Amino acid sequence: MLSKLEQILETLEETYGPQKLAGPTDPYEMIVFLNCGYPARDGKCAKGFEALKREVGVQPNKLLAVSKTKLAKLIRPSVILPAVCAQRLKDIARRVKNDLDGDLAATLQKRMDEAKRKAGNGSAEKSLRATKRVLREFPTIGEPSAEKILLFSGLAPIAAVPSAFVDVPIRLFVGEPGKNYAADYVAAREILDSGLPKTFGARQRAYLLLKKHGQEICKRSKPKCEVCPLTAHCAYLQAKAADSNAE
Ligand code: SF4
Repeated sequence: MLSKLEQILETLEETYGPQKLAGPTDPYEMIVFLNCGYPARDGKCAKGFEALKREVGVQPNKLLAVSKTKLAKLIRPSVILPAVCAQRLKDIARRVKNDLDGDLAATLQKRMDEAKRKAGNGSAEKSLRATKRVLREFPTIGEPSAEKILLFSGLAPIAAVPSAFVDVPIRLFVGEPGKNYAADYVAAREILDSGLPKTFGARQRAYLLLKKHGQEICKRSKPKCEVCPLTAHCAYLQAKAADSNAE
C-alpha cells in the first residue's frame, strides 16, 4: 500500500505529468543560472542564462574576460538590478577560478567523497554541512538552493524542498504554515526525508511535483483548494473544516 506522500505524488503526476528541471545540472552552471534572473524565476533565469551562453559563454574565464558593462547589458531584460547582478556573476567566476581550482563540481565531489569515507563514524552529516557551506558562500545561494544543487547535480540525494513552495508539504502534512521560514523549511525537509526512498530519482521527482503544485494551485498567498486534487490528504483543509464545524 502506498504511503500518504506516495499517493500525493502519484496524484500530482497524474495531474501535471512528469516534470523536468529548468536549467542546467552542473553545480557551477546552476549557480550562474540562478543569478541570471532577479527575482530568480525559472523563465527569467533561463532567458538571462541563454543570452549569456550565446553571447559570451558561461565558463569562469569567459565571464572574467568580458566587461561588467557588457554583462549588465546582456542580462538587463531578466534582472531588476543589472549592475549588481553582473558583479555577482563576476564574483562567482572569480571564486571558482581562483579559490576552487576552476572546477566547482570536482571540489564538491571531493568533499562528498570525504563525507562518504567518514560515514559510519558520525561525521558524514558534518561533511555534508561543510559542502553546503562552500555553496552558500556564493551570491544568492541559501540553504534551500545549496540542497537543490546537491540533489540535481547528483552529488547527494538530499530531500531538498523547493524554496518558494515550502508551504505545500507543510499544509499537506501539518496544517497552517508557521511564521518562521527556516523552521518550516526544516520541517518540510523532514517530511520528505522520512517519506521518500534515499534515491536521486525519487527526491528529484518529489521536488519538481511539489514545486509545480505550488506554482499552479497551492499558491503561497491564496491556495486554490476548490480545484485541488489533494483535498482528501490535506491537513490544512481538514483543520479549516474542523474550525468551521466548531463555530
Ligand atoms: S487543499 Fe488547498 S492547501 Fe491543501 S494542498 Fe490543495 S491547494 Fe494546498
